[in-house]
Amino acid sequence: METLEPRQLPVKLELAPAESGLGFALRALRANGVAFDQGIRWLGLERHRPLDQQSVRRIAWCLNVDRSQLGTRLVMQDASTGWVRLAGMRFRRQVATNKLYAKVCPQCLREQGIAKLSWQLRAAVGCAQHGYSLIWLCPHCGQTIAWNRPDVDICRCGRHFKTDSSDAVEPEVQAWLNWMERALGDVALSSPTALPTAALHLSIDGAFRIIEALGLCPRAGTSVRSALAGCKTPRGLGAVVQRGVERLKAIEADPGVAMRFSMVANQPALAQIAADAAAVEDQALAWWLMQSMRSSVDPGATRAGSRPRGQLPLFIS
Ligand SMILES: [Zn+2]
Ligand SMILES: [Zn+2]
Repeated sequence: METLEPRQLPVKLELAPAESGLGFALRALRANGVAFDQGIRWLGLERHRPLDQQSVRRIAWCLNVDRSQLGTRLVMQDASTGWVRLAGMRFRRQVATNKLYAKVCPQCLREQGIAKLSWQLRAAVGCAQHGYSLIWLCPHCGQTIAWNRPDVDICRCGRHFKTDSSDAVEPEVQAWLNWMERALGDVALSSPTALPTAALHLSIDGAFRIIEALGLCPRAGTSVRSALAGCKTPRGLGAVVQRGVERLKAIEADPGVAMRFSMVANQPALAQIAADAAAVEDQALAWWLMQSMRSSVDPGATRAGSRPRGQLPLFIS
């Protein structure tokens, strides 16, 4: 590509089911002999901020792909500050991004040759299908995996990514990943039985942020800042998800234990969800958890109406 003139890529590819927009861009540019970083500049795809409709229209035309299909696969602007849209859902900006390192499941890449949409979510710590943590470092060269690479399944060092087969995810994390992929539309996965029933009623953004708030700190006295520093990798965040799921299950089994977690839960994060969330169910659960941790007062009588003593809201189907 000698010039930055807008024109359509001559070789047309189809978006695969569950493929991410950035992964498609990498594949389409590659098929047309354009390097990723050069192509991204040519497309004007600014990854540090969510995209607007006009940018997506231009990018889709250049990539020679349907605009509405591509638009749901990229992180887009939302009407509210601090929120973005991906896959037709709302997420906090830090939960879904075009910018983060490109984590991958090497087995998915080998079998399907596409980068999955869910990998762009912070909440995707592993692969639901293969049961391993996603990798963010190349096992050959040790560099972080970047979008700017020769092909979806090939690292900057020129070698194919490989799985670290010692890195199987815990049952709670597997259940979380299955639920998340199903919520994103992959109904081929079995429905998770190891998740707290409460989580099943929430948005993906709300469920992830509540589980993260509950599981972030391993013990009382750990600061939120140091706990956050420890979960920058899929593996580290996986440990948080596991703890958060276990703690929410314990509260669900006996609401009285919520008080026990008041010293380890990230309460400011719960307060933020209670104030502003993707779904009212997220707000109700975050609010209920905060109340339950605050005092031994019966949390049954809430603004959502009275309910049997000690019972969590939302979850009785
Ligand atoms: Zn996989
Ligand atoms: Zn490498």
